[in-house]
Amino acid sequence: MALAEKILRLKKEKKAIILAHNYQRPEVQDIADYVGDSIELSGKAMEEKEAEIIVFAAVDFMAESAAILNSDKKVLLPSAGARCPMAQMLTVDEIKRWRVLYPLVPLVLYVNTLASAKAYCDVCCTSANAVEVINALDAETVLFGPDHNLAEYVQEKTGKTIIPIPERGFCPTHLLFQPEEVQVLKADFQDAVVMVHPECTAEMRKIADFIGSTSQMCRYARENNAETFIVATEEGLLHRLKRDNPSKRFVLAYEGAICPNMKLNTLERIYMALKEERHVVTVPEPIASKARKALEKMFEITR
Ligand code: SF4
Repeated sequence: MALAEKILRLKKEKKAIILAHNYQRPEVQDIADYVGDSIELSGKAMEEKEAEIIVFAAVDFMAESAAILNSDKKVLLPSAGARCPMAQMLTVDEIKRWRVLYPLVPLVLYVNTLASAKAYCDVCCTSANAVEVINALDAETVLFGPDHNLAEYVQEKTGKTIIPIPERGFCPTHLLFQPEEVQVLKADFQDAVVMVHPECTAEMRKIADFIGSTSQMCRYARENNAETFIVATEEGLLHRLKRDNPSKRFVLAYEGAICPNMKLNTLERIYMALKEERHVVTVPEPIASKARKALEKMFEITR
């Protein structure tokens, strides 16, 4: 029996659901119950009342958020080593240092942070709702981490003073995108629409026709009549874009834009994690309850 079939059979037996982030391998996206961004997926898990196990094919901070929001379910991360390097860039010590410097300034953390960091913030945000969350705060200056590019983008959009913490946190995968490749591609695809993730640099944002999160890119591609889209985000999203829009062309803005951490989840690792219920993600109280409050505050603002 093919491995994908074995996984689907085991999934039924164990009352499990499989969630796959937009950056997962195609074969992993194809066996998932839901494919989406991290918060979309945590929301799906909350709706699945019958499920007892969530296999979260993604990286550490996403599985942590799912565990925080679904404390009645067992959350498995197929590959224990799937850690987001950007989330590791913001430590609790760093947060405390900035909190001392700016005691009256609210702290907003991108969901791409570890639960231990989230426990110290006032509210979380995603790349899709960062502008809305910060606009909703009754403050003109905001501490924001860990992505420096997203902080800069939010400052441009809101007109507020955004202090990035750490000073230069970044996503190594999105940093790979530079305008030159797009300029060369544009010569071949003159009418192409350029979609850029806000974790990319300011130079990339400047040449974008559309700036948005992965879920916003999916919506934009569906609703826009262009034939060709040049995409500046991790290559895994192209599988979903092509599947959902078979008559349109999607070209990755830089061929090497692969997040090795996201790609650690293979079908073999998903199968073994589910079979042996290994790599259970747990977040200790009271960290979980503080981080949950920050996530819930985000849901309240964006509801
Ligand atoms: S794509 Fe970037 S932000 Fe996302 S998991 Fe990989 S390193 Fe982290």
